[in-house]
Amino acid sequence: MAARDRTMAKDLTHFIGGKHVAGTSGRFLDVTNPNTGEVTARTPLASAAELRAAVSVAAKAFPEWAATNPQRRARVMFEFKRLLEANMNELAELLSAEHGKVIADSKGDVQRGLEVIEFACGIPHLMKGEFTEGAGPGIDMYSMRQPLGVCAGITPFNFPAMIPMWMFGVSIACGNTFIVKPSEKDPSVPIRLAELFMEAGAPAGVLNVVNGDKEAVDAILTDPMIQAVSFVGSSDIAQYVYATGTAHGKRVQAMGGAKNHAIIMPDADMDQVVNDLIGAGYGSAGERCMAISVAVPVGEDTADRLVEKLVPRVQSLKVGISTAADSDYGPLVTKAHMDKVSSYIEMGVKEGAKLLVDGRGFKLQGYENGFFLGGSLFDHVTPDMQSYKDEIFGPVLQIVRAKTFDEAAELPTNHQYGNGVAIFTRDGDAARSFASRVQVGMVGINVPIPVPLAYHTFGGWKRSAFGDTNQHGTEGVKFWTHIKTVTSRWPTGGVKEASSFVIPTMK
Ligand code: NAD
Repeated sequence: MAARDRTMAKDLTHFIGGKHVAGTSGRFLDVTNPNTGEVTARTPLASAAELRAAVSVAAKAFPEWAATNPQRRARVMFEFKRLLEANMNELAELLSAEHGKVIADSKGDVQRGLEVIEFACGIPHLMKGEFTEGAGPGIDMYSMRQPLGVCAGITPFNFPAMIPMWMFGVSIACGNTFIVKPSEKDPSVPIRLAELFMEAGAPAGVLNVVNGDKEAVDAILTDPMIQAVSFVGSSDIAQYVYATGTAHGKRVQAMGGAKNHAIIMPDADMDQVVNDLIGAGYGSAGERCMAISVAVPVGEDTADRLVEKLVPRVQSLKVGISTAADSDYGPLVTKAHMDKVSSYIEMGVKEGAKLLVDGRGFKLQGYENGFFLGGSLFDHVTPDMQSYKDEIFGPVLQIVRAKTFDEAAELPTNHQYGNGVAIFTRDGDAARSFASRVQVGMVGINVPIPVPLAYHTFGGWKRSAFGDTNQHGTEGVKFWTHIKTVTSRWPTGGVKEASSFVIPTMK
């Protein structure tokens, strides 16, 4: 960091036990405003000892919170939802300033998290167990869901509001206490969420934020008191988190990267397809795990019609600062990420794909140090290219031409990632067959970004998710609770039966 910057950048804190706590490790990471490239803050990177101290605070808060009846826990969620709505503008501005997504999209990020809080307001109903009267002679059987204890969430940079709320919203409503380890690139929104959660009436220690990098993550994965870990980020780290956390006896769900295809059938409404591809491919600078990054037109004529309409739209994308109301999308999150995306464009060219629109070299007047890239569009991409196999995570759309529906449908199925996919068609048969056979977790039929709502569940297949339980919805409640089943008989009327050496059956 330059000396001039250092005096202006403020040191962020952890949020533990209801208070802001300064970092003591002496390690920091710069947070930049991606519009200007200026360092605006420093994220403290927790040591393993700082993480353990936060776990102790969360463990102390657990028994009382777990014993708080679910309606009272739900009331905290209701009040938190109200506070999110009341503070929407401030949260969106904070988010845009560190992430670079435009304000309207930042509001969407907060809103999608808020919808998980709305879902969590129903926790009294969601945690009810089952009951069978008279399961045997004088025997009743019932089940109950109980919280696990201290839980943790490790989140990526690209949804700093929604993804922490996916995790702590459901977990805390279930009666757990929680530690969020946000992305070190844009941690201010998660810290603000924890402040608001306290204001909503949560006791101190129920929600804590510990900032950090690999050292804090490793401390979470090996801490004997942490019972469950939810992770969202890139696939190699997700796999590492899953393997390490489960090897230490924890319940782990770990969502990874993506390469989402859109299949375009010859009968699709091409104007609608182009509108959808432009938004889903380039919105948030392509930094979404549900972004469409590959378009697969079926047949040469479909491909030619698509390219003809798509090129001028990509060329006229309005790239601007994140606070400008008329920007389609803003800068990428960091210079390092912008450079990585540029290097994938270079790779695509070298591999022989045809670069129809080149977004490199885009400069925004007055913001020459910002991390901007124009939209890029490739045609004639083939499945053997490395730039097709990898996730690029930037404003780059690749077209892979398929001769037949079957050939197109095989592409997402054979890809290492299986997060989202879409098909555009008027043919119900084709859509139904595709949805049934494709090896991908979330499918859109004429819907470009099929992100399930809070009361359904979110999760991909293959290298897009490790573990077997999705985020939020009833799957989330399952992930954050134990089930216990009780079989009971009351000793009225004396001895009921002799010792039995045979497994009880209902024969
Ligand atoms: P990332 O993997 O770099 O970071 C995610 C988290 O892991 C952060 O909290 C980070 O501090 C931590 N981390 C980074 N390196 C680590 C290491 N070596 N050891 C332990 N922990 C480490 O991901 P990102 O760049 O912040 O986010 C973008 C990625 O997240 C993309 O791949 C995107 O597809 C994915 N993502 C997936 C989903 C989903 O639901 N499948 C949703 C959003 C984002």
